[in-house]
Amino acid sequence: METLSADVAIIGAGPAGMFAVFECGMLKLSCVLIDALDELGGQCVALYPEKPIYDIPAHPAIEGGALIARLEEQIAPFDCPKLLGRQVTGLSGRAGDFTLATSAGDAIKAKTVLLAAGAGAFGPNRPPLEGLAAYEASGAVRYYVRKREDLRGKRVVIAGGGDSAVDWALALQGIAASIAVVHRRPKFRAAPESSAQLDALAAAGKVEMAIPYQLHALHGAGGKLEAVEVADLDGATKKLGADVLLPFFGLAMDLGPIAEWGLDLAQGRVTVDPATMQSSLPGLFAVGDIAAYPGKLKLILQGFAEGAVAAHAAYGVVNPDKALHFEYSTTKGVPG
Ligand code: FAD
Repeated sequence: METLSADVAIIGAGPAGMFAVFECGMLKLSCVLIDALDELGGQCVALYPEKPIYDIPAHPAIEGGALIARLEEQIAPFDCPKLLGRQVTGLSGRAGDFTLATSAGDAIKAKTVLLAAGAGAFGPNRPPLEGLAAYEASGAVRYYVRKREDLRGKRVVIAGGGDSAVDWALALQGIAASIAVVHRRPKFRAAPESSAQLDALAAAGKVEMAIPYQLHALHGAGGKLEAVEVADLDGATKKLGADVLLPFFGLAMDLGPIAEWGLDLAQGRVTVDPATMQSSLPGLFAVGDIAAYPGKLKLILQGFAEGAVAAHAAYGVVNPDKALHFEYSTTKGVPG
């Protein structure tokens, strides 16, 4: 339990929130960074640490985990306290004098709030299967793959029809002992080249395609999975031998307590003025995936730029009597 005060409380330590620490730090605004997850990095670390990202400027390819490690290095000089493993549950006060409450009982005083909460407290859409919890607890059913190596030698069943299902079927080639893909329809909602690669692997007998099938039941005991039973549209069933099931049915986006703070929302995201990234609540800014405005792209690079805009606008709230003189980082340098 912490009692802290800062110029800017940043809610969410995904790439947008992390880079906002840098941008605020360059303007000499003190920050505190809070995240519900136990580690920094948001979606990049929780969902795709080993996948290369190709559209980060000046990085032709960089894995999700590596990008976050570089951001951590970039914000290190600013000594920003990081409160991890706790959700921000409450917000009270006004511009210049906000108080945030967390699930760990912290009280954080901040002059401004920068919301970088992505999709909110995100969690996977779970398949409605009997006994699921025991298999989730043992890791036999998992929604994220942290390291491919964890699945070496395992019989893996992948369920879903989007990019994640197809990408993991490709990425586990040569690692998993066997791979089966379960999908309701013959067509996948995935990048055409990836779908074509999957078709080629299926034709070569390297991936078993269970199509059109849906998950029906899990078989095993004590959390140890032995088979996944699937059913076709007529109810006919078959069993696929499995040690691990990876259901990829997308993320449930739940803003959680943020939805109760009286902010203007559009489709579950916080509407902002893109000139300042300020929300309908003065002194509260939103950046990254959670921000909504015309032309918004949910891309990391846009979240980075929004952090710079929000930091400059927050400066005016923290220092109402001081003019901000714009300077390049090449002129200012970084601390220490
Ligand atoms: P997030 O990364 O979602 O982080 C938000 C953080 O806020 C989370 O850690 C969450 O725990 C925390 N949080 C939420 N609510 C609270 C609360 N109340 N209290 C405390 N903490 C809270 N983008 C690209 O630009 N290029 C790509 O190639 C690319 N590939 C992708 C591949 C996949 C499989 C996925 C899933 C996404 C991909 N993206 C890509 C999208 C990119 O990851 C997101 O745009 C980016 O992560 C958004 O960053 P963010 O910081 O806004 O939010």
